[in-house]
Amino acid sequence: MAPLTDTFGRVHRDLRIAVTDRCNFRCQYCMPVEGMKWMPREGLLTFEEIARIARLLVQRYDIDSIRLTGGEPTVRAHLPTLVRKLSALGVDLSMTTNAATLRLVAHDLHEAGLQRLNISLDSLRQDRFIELTRRDDLDRVLDGIDAALEVGFEPVKINVVLMRGINDDEIVDFARFGRDKGVTVRFIEFMPLDADEQWGPERVVPLAEVVERINDVFPIEAVPRTSAPATRYRYGDGAGEVGVIATVTEKFCDSCDRIRLTADGQFRNCLFAVTDYNLRDALRAGATDDELAEILEGAVSDKWAGHGIDTVHFIRPKRNMSQIGG
Ligand code: SAM
Ligand code: SF4
Repeated sequence: MAPLTDTFGRVHRDLRIAVTDRCNFRCQYCMPVEGMKWMPREGLLTFEEIARIARLLVQRYDIDSIRLTGGEPTVRAHLPTLVRKLSALGVDLSMTTNAATLRLVAHDLHEAGLQRLNISLDSLRQDRFIELTRRDDLDRVLDGIDAALEVGFEPVKINVVLMRGINDDEIVDFARFGRDKGVTVRFIEFMPLDADEQWGPERVVPLAEVVERINDVFPIEAVPRTSAPATRYRYGDGAGEVGVIATVTEKFCDSCDRIRLTADGQFRNCLFAVTDYNLRDALRAGATDDELAEILEGAVSDKWAGHGIDTVHFIRPKRNMSQIGG
């Protein structure tokens, strides 16, 4: 077994699988309020197709971590069936969700073998939550977080996308929320993957500022970096950790070990890639594992050195975040 390595020597071990592009929310920074064109149902990979690609990646290239995402993964029917198939591969299995309907499925997902959960929540204030997600579901999301903890997911992390002038006044509130609930909050810099192209560098809240604001109230110290994207900090009083995913201001492309499969079966070598590699059509045309492996290896060897958001050469991907899987 040889790992999936690109021309810069980066080894890939972490697979993100979007199981749908549909969602029960319309977050401002991700989807347009209306006019979203959903992928045709017959174009979505079946659970068998997803499991076949995942198995190939795990068995041939030692991929050891799989995260389910979307769109909103919980809107895909019978999700525990897929979780059971992937769990049998013996990988670290996790999911990112908006948690609005998590209470209904948390138990079944946990029992099927899902281990870890990241829950997205960008405001603790009801009016702002509605404005950001275009849904009145804050109470359901908070209840979903409680359900995740009750069922025994460990750890539960909260993802907060920060946008200047929109929710950057809630940094300390979120830090307090994480400490009180015993969950790790991770602030994510706003990335140019929004459907309405509202992104601009002035809307990004940089890591340094997030750290300073938290440290003023709850002193924190840095935790040594791993290949994970979050820059981590621990609270000086032992009340857990907080993290920042600084994709824009302190990019971590050099240590990135992620590959992605979209809901319609396109393989992507980077969140910001402008090329899709069509595994679905190859699969449906009867490709052998060796033929699929050739596509995967070719795609990874084409990976760029970095995303280049900070350069004039940056090209915005045509897909928004919900069509890639964050
Ligand atoms: N629907 C699920 C959710 O929201 O958790 C999973 C899919 S969502 C696309 C995955 C993650 O991407 C979420 O944490 C979301 O906040 C993040 N995201 C979406 N658009 C983003 C953007 N433009 N910049 C940064 N993060 C973004
Ligand atoms: Fe849906 Fe997640 Fe995108 Fe929000 S961030 S619109 S919950 S896919």
